[in-house]
Amino acid sequence: MIKTENLSKTYGKGDGSVAALKNAGLTIEDGELVAIIGKSGSGKTTLLNLLGCLDAPTDGKAFYGDDDVTSLDDGKAADFRLRHIGFVFQFFDLLPELTAAENILLPARLAKKSADNFQEIVDSLGLSERVNHYPSQLSGGQQQRVAIARAMINDPEVLLCDEPTGNLDEKSGREVMDLLLKMNREQHKTILIVTHNPEVAAQCGRTIEISDGMIF
Ligand code: ADP
Ligand code: MG
Repeated sequence: MIKTENLSKTYGKGDGSVAALKNAGLTIEDGELVAIIGKSGSGKTTLLNLLGCLDAPTDGKAFYGDDDVTSLDDGKAADFRLRHIGFVFQFFDLLPELTAAENILLPARLAKKSADNFQEIVDSLGLSERVNHYPSQLSGGQQQRVAIARAMINDPEVLLCDEPTGNLDEKSGREVMDLLLKMNREQHKTILIVTHNPEVAAQCGRTIEISDGMIF
């Protein structure tokens, strides 16, 4: 279970400061598939980054089970992330100088974990013919499937996806969504998806709306 208490983030100080997230309290049960919707600038990415220990809150806490992840120092946060959380971003964020296979295996290398599940993941994402290609040789949809494989390689409990279909054509977006739905259904991954797309939100079990840094 993921739980936040008064989770808040203000960027900057004084006159120019921006209160991007205000006292967010939410609970997400294991195995839930949740859409996070809201206008551009409403605080969606801020929330996801805090939940993913990519950034520290200015106030409040976030728990994974009993672990307060907001109290971890940078090194411990990175380690927690590597073992428990997979990320999928709008612009894929693959390393261009690595092949698809090398990108996928990178989190396993960093965590010093074996990647026995590599072939299974690659097959289930329809990437077997593409693993030796570089990102520039892949379509957007294929790059995002590589990013999902990379997110899955350490078998995390949680996938955090920030507009995963936002940069894809309709067909590739639908394929990526189908794959995320499958991860949720068959592997009981807890999945949070930030999206602008009502069709994507409609496929999720629950929708959280953010407006001006506040959760509804
Ligand atoms: P969303 O993902 O919903 O579009 P964000 O969480 O990215 O929104 O941003 C929320 C607010 O915080 C916006 O007003 C944005 O300009 C501001 N913001 C985001 N990141 C930073 C940052 N690193 N420094 C200053 N302001 C930021
Ligand atoms: Mg955003």
